[in-house]
Amino acid sequence: MNSKTTTYIALGSNQGNRIKYLQDAIDEIYKAIGDVTKVSKIYSTPAWGFEGDDFLNAAIQVETRFSAETTLKKLLNIELELGRIRKKKLGYEARPIDLDILFYGEETISTERLTIPHPELSKRNFVLFPLSDIAPDLLHSSLGKKIQDLKTDFNDSSIESVLEQLSPKVASFRQVNYLTIEGNIGSGKTSLAQMIAEDFNGKLILERFKDNPFLPKFYEDQARFAFPLEMSFLADRHQQLMDDISQLDLFSDFAISDYNPNKSLIFSKVTLQEDEYALYKKIFKIMYSEVPQPDVYVYLYQNIDRLLSNIKKRGREYEQNIEPDYLKSIHDGYLNFFNSQNKIDVKIIDISDLDFVENREDYLFLLEEISRITKKSLG
Ligand code: ATP
Ligand code: CA
Ligand code: CA
Repeated sequence: MNSKTTTYIALGSNQGNRIKYLQDAIDEIYKAIGDVTKVSKIYSTPAWGFEGDDFLNAAIQVETRFSAETTLKKLLNIELELGRIRKKKLGYEARPIDLDILFYGEETISTERLTIPHPELSKRNFVLFPLSDIAPDLLHSSLGKKIQDLKTDFNDSSIESVLEQLSPKVASFRQVNYLTIEGNIGSGKTSLAQMIAEDFNGKLILERFKDNPFLPKFYEDQARFAFPLEMSFLADRHQQLMDDISQLDLFSDFAISDYNPNKSLIFSKVTLQEDEYALYKKIFKIMYSEVPQPDVYVYLYQNIDRLLSNIKKRGREYEQNIEPDYLKSIHDGYLNFFNSQNKIDVKIIDISDLDFVENREDYLFLLEEISRITKKSLG
């Protein structure tokens, strides 16, 4: 999962319902690319060089997890989509919407497909005026000047803003005190927890297990190493969770975790012999009797094929020999556990047709689904 980059995008339209095109573009950018956190005023300039309506131009600030290349691809798609709708009604016309990347973080890019910062921006009042509304202090590093100074240098006040205004658009999320997102190995629970925490100021409680010395051995010889593995997970998770939770104010903070201690019971039921499991369960109950439970508990369901391909993609060496049957038994273990107890309310979300990392609409869908889960009284 990438973290977020601030990008500035120029919007222009000179055909049809121009203001609607600008706002529709913002709404589509929100859905496909990222939160639209700032919008400029709309400026009007006469179309020169050809007969036509005046141009309306604006600039927006967008927070995105996509690369500049991917952002451009998505912008071109949006142009096409908005343009196509119009074509159907009125036959052939030029594009009613133009979307250009002005800045992408601090990056400078110069390829066949993409030049950033946009090469013309310092020569265009219809870019400098709107951009100066939302990012006056942004530095154009190769020109060594701030946007507001480039605008002053340009010294052309023939451009005017119009009365109508555009609306920004940012994702919303119903926060609870303590949200847990669980899922099978490779389901993407950690990425989702990280994205939500980053977007909504959550405090992350992530499982840290990379250096468990028994894990690689366990994947080699399950029968021999299951018990020490589960015991060391139990000890580590308990210590971590106690450390993490003691840092929080569970009444005012928004905490989000990618695991629940009960996971220990679920995995060990799959991996341990019956008598080992009985002993394990006893110790577990003693250790976890006082640990707070989440307000909202989500389980991401992903099919075995996608789990395997995700595991392959992230390439942790010791995970590469995980068998489909093992993943299946972990999944069944979760379901059995959810069915066998009524203290925790679990919402299972089927993500087998979703890709919330590549496809922002899927992410927005999940935010909505999780926000809809009501907090029921626990135990
Ligand atoms: P101008 O770039 O001078 O404003 P334009 O916007 O009318 O011209 P288009 O026909 O919309 O030009 O775009 C042509 C191509 O420009 C796009 O397909 C894209 O590959 C390329 N391009 C290069 N840099 C950028 C950028 N920063 N933002 C958008 N498109 C860019
Ligand atoms: Ca342009
Ligand atoms: Ca363009």
